Amino acid sequence: MSAFNEEKVLSVHHWTDKLFTFTTTRATSLRFSNGHFTMIGLRVDGKPLVRAYSIVSANYEEHLEFLSIKVPDGPLTSRLQHIQVGDTVLVGRKPTGTLVIDYLLPGKRLYLLSTGTGLAPFMSIVRDPETYQKFEQVILVHGVRQKDELAYHDLLVEHMPEHELVGDQVASQLRYYPTVTREAYRNMGRVTELMETGKIFDDLALPALDAAHDRVMICGSPGMLRDLKHMLEARGLAEGNTQAPGAFVIERAFAEQ
Ligand SMILES: Cc1cc2nc3c(=O)[nH]c(=O)nc-3n(C[C@H](O)[C@H](O)[C@H](O)COP(=O)(O)OP(=O)(O)OC[C@H]3O[C@@H](n4cnc5c(N)ncnc54)[C@H](O)[C@@H]3O)c2cc1C
Repeated sequence: MSAFNEEKVLSVHHWTDKLFTFTTTRATSLRFSNGHFTMIGLRVDGKPLVRAYSIVSANYEEHLEFLSIKVPDGPLTSRLQHIQVGDTVLVGRKPTGTLVIDYLLPGKRLYLLSTGTGLAPFMSIVRDPETYQKFEQVILVHGVRQKDELAYHDLLVEHMPEHELVGDQVASQLRYYPTVTREAYRNMGRVTELMETGKIFDDLALPALDAAHDRVMICGSPGMLRDLKHMLEARGLAEGNTQAPGAFVIERAFAEQ
């Protein structure tokens, strides 16, 4: 049996010339936890050309959704960015990953820290009712360079509080903190610096990071993961993984070449 399902593209939305989203059909056999990633891609010259992608859609939804970068000359994304409704996309049958709330110890607040396409796994986690059962408050932080890269901003601000399954929990428990580094915006600065200086906590009127109550998931560039991991460890938070839960878990949003 092939390692991939062949899914049909249902919609494509280009946020910018560097970022797009698409939805596909979903095989009923595909099971995943919210926060998981899987291999997806295209058949090129008869062979699968695939890369790791976080699943944006929640695991109870009938379709799949992905958020993608467009890397100039990137083997996959130079092609994938041209997909159209009705095209076929390969979707790996074995989603996996560490950004799963079960890999965190119980806590009061859940911080979801992302940059760029690192937002993707958190879009499924904030649509999961269990997230709000396990944590009193959920703080979603998304750092980008320019404000038009704030994918899903309007969905998060306008539509999620009306969501049929989690709308009430979103309205009372989810805080969304978008931040921009290269142009004027209501929140500015790098996620790492905002955490280090405590500005995020001040802006949201939340207490400083507390190893006893705060839990953190991080998805971003390898550099961002490294810096935040050091910062959290210095504040007494221990990293968890699929074998042993911890106070924080991390996943790369992409690998450096
Ligand atoms: C666990 C995991 C989950 C991932 N989830 C996603 C996702 O949800 N969406 C997504 O777009 N990509 C994601 N990626 C990256 C993805 O696997 C590919 O690297 C990306 O699709 C580009 O593929 P490519 O063949 O065009 O270029 P590649 O040869 O794979 O990448 C070329 C270079 O482009 C840069 N790059 C690649 N991806 C990104 C990115 N997302 N943001 C910024 N720079 C990047 C890196 O410097 C990389 O070395 C994930 C990677 C990992 C390891």
